[in-house]
Amino acid sequence: MFDLVVAGGLAVLPSGPEAADIAIAGDKIVAIGAPGGFAATGAKRTIDAKGQYVIPGGIDPHVHCSWPIPVPGQAQPTLSGPPEQVSRAALWGGTTTLLDFALVQPDETMAAAIERRTKEWTGACYCDYGFHIMLSGKLPPSILGELAEAVADGHASVKMFTTDITPSRKGRMVQFGDIWEVLKVLARQGGIASIHAEDNDIVMHMYEKLTREDRTGFENMAEVHNTLSENLAFNRVIRLAENVPGAALYMMHTSAATGVRAIAEARGRGVPIYGETLHQYLLYSAEDYKKPNGQMYHTYPSLKFKEDHDALWAATNRGAIQAVATDEVCCPLKIKVQGRRIDDTTGGNSGVEPRVAIIYSETVVKRGYGLGHFVDLISTNAAKIQGLYPRKGALAVGSDADVVLLDPRAKRTIKAEGLHETDYSPWEGREVAAWPSLTILRGKVVVENGAFAGDLKDGQFIRRKVADDIRARPAL
Ligand SMILES: [Zn+2]
Ligand SMILES: [Zn+2]
Repeated sequence: MFDLVVAGGLAVLPSGPEAADIAIAGDKIVAIGAPGGFAATGAKRTIDAKGQYVIPGGIDPHVHCSWPIPVPGQAQPTLSGPPEQVSRAALWGGTTTLLDFALVQPDETMAAAIERRTKEWTGACYCDYGFHIMLSGKLPPSILGELAEAVADGHASVKMFTTDITPSRKGRMVQFGDIWEVLKVLARQGGIASIHAEDNDIVMHMYEKLTREDRTGFENMAEVHNTLSENLAFNRVIRLAENVPGAALYMMHTSAATGVRAIAEARGRGVPIYGETLHQYLLYSAEDYKKPNGQMYHTYPSLKFKEDHDALWAATNRGAIQAVATDEVCCPLKIKVQGRRIDDTTGGNSGVEPRVAIIYSETVVKRGYGLGHFVDLISTNAAKIQGLYPRKGALAVGSDADVVLLDPRAKRTIKAEGLHETDYSPWEGREVAAWPSLTILRGKVVVENGAFAGDLKDGQFIRRKVADDIRARPAL
């Protein structure tokens, strides 16, 4: 007798979509078989998935919960939505795993930073999660030894910035020499570098220039965080990594055609590099800054232009982009639109809930991608790159029973009040061609028929280890 069988749906298996039933015992998938094949064994509960797609739970590899947001004219920052808020919205939208960040402060050890973050999340998250280690500023040499331990302990990725992002955030950028040393540790220990790459000289030059010219409105953001900056920074990081045998790169929030090209060229040379973009980078452009409350669409670096959209979309078709994330910084509209300048506009996005439905609509329905390809972009590839696979990101025997029913009859127009994120949505008014009707987290039905049954005790920290083939070559 199984605990749960999901029967009658079109299951998106690693081998491709297939009419198949999924049998679950405890928190694992224990069998996958022909429709009706588990009837003889029986199950405590059988879920009818007829007419729906059965997919592995979504993975958002880039969210910032309880993240400090500077408030103009105020010494103390405010915090973005906590894991409780973001994970609940994630489960409603068919995402079952989040990767956030553990920022190592200048005055603390890496172990202390991880412990602090772990305390904040334990019993405070409805879904599963992990942390990229986040390094900033001048790195003390002692950090390299600590990093080796952290990677061995399941924190498989390290986020570093090649820019301070804005003039007021001095101290964020990691110098190239330090990045070089970190890459050596990651190569040795089997980790991956998650990079925010912008050319600091270009970005700061543009801040000075636009300030001088009195053009500091946020609608000029794409001139500051520009495509040349992405070109220079991506290529510089890639060159560095190419000189460290075994170093693998995950380029976060790729926003421009220049970034896409840099990744594609490196992949052509066999560099183990993977591209992430964001759904707002695929679907909004710098023109949208001019709309009312245009800050809603912004996250750093910046929205770009038509040719960048074209390049990003082309790259999702088995090219330089493997994963579509959110860069979630969930906050009320008041906070999102508080700044109006190129140097004080709130970054991040509120989009973790509609992400799966939006990407389904844009890839499968509008662009004719296969269901497996769509699932790769919202789940499987992130699992593989970030060391969660095959525990996460697959409907396979032995995998965690993170299962989502995506209902193509549940077409809708997105409205903030129908979501569970915050008081606005940058996706307001967008049509989607499906919506998740049911979400299972490790064998437990947590969203069903418009009701939420999650518990803050459900979410677990997931140890990660990046597979050797992912780090050896562009394997996806
Ligand atoms: Zn970033
Ligand atoms: Zn981010």
